Formats: sequence, structure tokens, C-alpha cells
Amino acid sequence: MIELKSLTKNYGSFTAVDSIDLSVPDGELFGFLGPNGAGKTTTLRMIAGILQPTSGTIHLAGIDLDRDPLAAKSKLGFIPDRPFIYEKLTGAEFLRFVAGLYGQDGTKVEHRGRELMALFDLEDWADELVESYSHGMRQKLIISSAFIHRPQVIVVDEPMVGLDPKAARILKDLFREYVRRGNTIMMSTHTLEVAENLCDRIAIIQSGRIRAIGTIPELRAEAMGSGLEEIFLKLTGETAARDAMEVLDA
Ligand code: ATP
Repeated sequence: MIELKSLTKNYGSFTAVDSIDLSVPDGELFGFLGPNGAGKTTTLRMIAGILQPTSGTIHLAGIDLDRDPLAAKSKLGFIPDRPFIYEKLTGAEFLRFVAGLYGQDGTKVEHRGRELMALFDLEDWADELVESYSHGMRQKLIISSAFIHRPQVIVVDEPMVGLDPKAARILKDLFREYVRRGNTIMMSTHTLEVAENLCDRIAIIQSGRIRAIGTIPELRAEAMGSGLEEIFLKLTGETAARDAMEVLDA
């Protein structure tokens, strides 16, 4: 479960995240949508404990992140939008390293790491240095590392970027199965088709505030639109492909 109360982040005098209240229960896959610069990454990085909020509270699996950061973070797996990994570790070493950060080692974790890598077709690369991995392979390794310690909550920034269609499909299945088992996922994405097909509920954020929240049918009713793209554009006041012809003609 993820609970945000009046969560706010200021960068100087600029408010990037503006008093967000949100509750994502156990067993839910929650989508976080919004235009560029809306505050999605800032929110997710605060939940992951990487950015300090200006004010407000974050609870992960019932634990206050500010009061008991180690306990709260032990419940969490974070998949960032850019897969930075130590180049001089092999894939298997990286998973071992991440498991170790959570105080886990031994044959069970080793087995789990190999299984996760096999799931993403990385088994032949397990003992190769990360520096030889492609972007998509790094992304798959980061995703595997978020699952290695069996967290209850996973926070994901743009999970599908760089994944080939097969890996994207595997990831969708993995996410659905993971929440079916009572865990929680909060995921940002610009891929509306992914949000529409994968998420139980969606929030649309703009200028640091939640503009709409609900299931797809609920959002559809609110925006009187048909598809999520139309709903998104209506709620965020964007005009689609505005004046493209004029720009090209200019
Ligand atoms: P995108 O879809 O483009 O990834 P986003 O919704 O994830 O966008 P954020 O990265 O959270 O948006 O940024 C929210 C706002 O905060 C933006 O206006 C951005 O310029 C600003 N911002 C982000 N990081 C900083 C920083 N370190 N210092 C100052 N402003 C920042």
C-alpha cells in the first residue's frame, strides 16, 4: 500500500508537486499519467526515498518513510526511468549486490536472480559485464533487481521505454501477477494504451496537482470522451498535434 498525504516538493520558489493526496491499496496497479514536466518523476522519486519532500508524508506498507526510512525502503522496489548500473559488475553480480543491500544472500536469492534473468532472456548474459549490455538489456536487469528482495510495493518510472515487444509483454504479465498476489505497483507512463490495458486505476497529474483519478470508465464519464487519449487531452487542456501544418508552413 502507498499513502501520500499533502505531498509537496518545491524547487526554490517553483512548486513541482503540489499537495498530493493519494492512496493506492494492496493488490492495485496504479497508473500515473501527465504531460511532460507535470511532476510524475518528482513524485515517484520522493516515494522511493531519493528526493526529500518539502512537506507532507509518505507511507509504504503502513510504514512512515520519513520516520523509519530503512524499514519503509525494505518494502520497496524502484525502477527508475534511466537504467544506470555499475558497468564493471556482471548481471548476476549486480543482482547479488542489490539483494545484499536488503540483507539477503544465499542459494534462494541466487536462484531467484537466475530465474528473473531467464524470464527476460538474459541467462546467457548473467556472467557478462554490464558494460556490454544494450539499453534494453540494462532495463531488464534493473527490473529484475526491483523484484529480487520480494518487495510489497514497486514504483516504476516509464517501465516500457526501450523494451522490445516480447519483454514488454513479459513485464505486463509479471506486473499483473505481482498485484494479483496482493502487492502494489505505481507506474508512470506516457503510453496510454499500456495505462488503459494494464492499470486498475489512473491519476492524471498536471502542474503538480492531480486533475482526475479513477478507473477508465470513471474517467471516461468525467471527460465525456471515448478513449484515454481523448480523456487525457481534455483533462490536461492540451490540443493534439496543434497547428502542425501551420508550423511546417511557417
Ligand atoms: P516528464 O514526463 O517530462 O518526464 P515529469 O512529469 O516526470 O515529466 P518532473 O521530472 O517531475 O516531471 O518535473 C516536474 C517539474 O519540476 C518540471 O517543471 C521540472 O522542470 C521541475 N524540476 C524537476 N527537477 C528539478 C530540479 N532538480 N530543479 C529544478 N526544477 C526541477
